[in-house]
Amino acid sequence: MLSSYIGRFAPTPSGYLHFGSLLAAVASYLDARHHQGQWLVRVEDLDTPRNIPGAIDHILHTLDAYGLHWDGEVVCQSDRVDLYQQVIDCWLQSGQAYHCDCSRQSIVAHGGVYPGTCRARGLPAATNHAVRVRVSDQTMVFQDRLQGEFSQQPAATSGDFIIRRRDGIIAYQLAVVIDDIAQGVTDIVRGADLLDSTPRQLWLYQLLQQPAPHYLHVPLVMCHDGEKLSKRLGSAPLEPRQATATLHRALSVLAQNPPAQLSIAPVSEQLDWAVTHWQPDRLPAKRQILDPTAPIPP
Ligand code: GLU
Repeated sequence: MLSSYIGRFAPTPSGYLHFGSLLAAVASYLDARHHQGQWLVRVEDLDTPRNIPGAIDHILHTLDAYGLHWDGEVVCQSDRVDLYQQVIDCWLQSGQAYHCDCSRQSIVAHGGVYPGTCRARGLPAATNHAVRVRVSDQTMVFQDRLQGEFSQQPAATSGDFIIRRRDGIIAYQLAVVIDDIAQGVTDIVRGADLLDSTPRQLWLYQLLQQPAPHYLHVPLVMCHDGEKLSKRLGSAPLEPRQATATLHRALSVLAQNPPAQLSIAPVSEQLDWAVTHWQPDRLPAKRQILDPTAPIPP
C-alpha cells in the first residue's frame, strides 16, 4: 500500500557525518521506511562561512555506505535562496516582517529576547540590516511523538526572530519550514537540540497557512563527561569502512536491542531488521541520554 509519509534528513555541511548525526539519520530513515514512506535528504548549506569543503560529499558517501539510501534528488538550500527571499519580500510588504539594525549585545542585555526595538521604526532595506518576523503572544503547542506535549511562547523566549541575518544569509528557521512544506514532509525526526526551535517553526507554518508536520525529537547522546557527542567527535568523521559495527552500535544507542549476531551482518540486513522492529517509544523521552555503549571513564 502506498503511504503518504514523507520524512527527511537535513544535514548541515559545517562538519562531516559523525556518530551523533548518524543517530538522527538512522532514526528518521527507520521511521520513514517503517511507515513505507519516502526518505529525502536535504543539504542545509546556507551558512556558507561555516561550510567545510568536501563535507557534502563525505556526508552523502557515508549515508550510502551505511545503506541509508534516499529517494529522489538531494536538494541543496543554496539553490533555493530566491524562493526564501520571495517569502521575505512578501512579509516585508505586508508588515509581518521588518528590518532591524540592533546589535547582538543590545539583545543579550534583554536576556536574549528581542524587545521589538525596530518594530515600528520602518527602517529601509540596507545591506547591514537583518529581517525579523513578528510574533504574537500566542503559545505554540504540539505533541511530540516521543517527548509528549511541548509548549512555548515565542514572544517570551525569542521575541520577533531573525529570518534573514544582517550578513544577508537566510536563517535556518525560515528555510527549513519553506523546504519542508515544498517537499511535502509529513514527519520530522531529528535531534532534541531542535526542540526549542520547533515553536518558532510552528509559528511560520501558521503564517504560511500550512499544516505542521508530526515531530519526533530523538534524545541527544552525551558522553559520560556530559559533552555532546557531536562536539566531542566533531573531528572524527565516520569511517564508511566501519559501517557494519557502527550501525549496530547506533541501533543499540537508539534502544532498539538489535540481536548480537547482527553486529557482523551487512548494513542492508541490519537495516531490514531495524525497519521491521522499529520502536521509537523504546527511546527515553528525554532531551539527552548517556551513551550506553561508551566505556565508563575510570
Ligand atoms: N540542518 C540541521 C542540523 O544539521 C537540522 C535541521 C532539521 O532537522 O530541522 O542540525
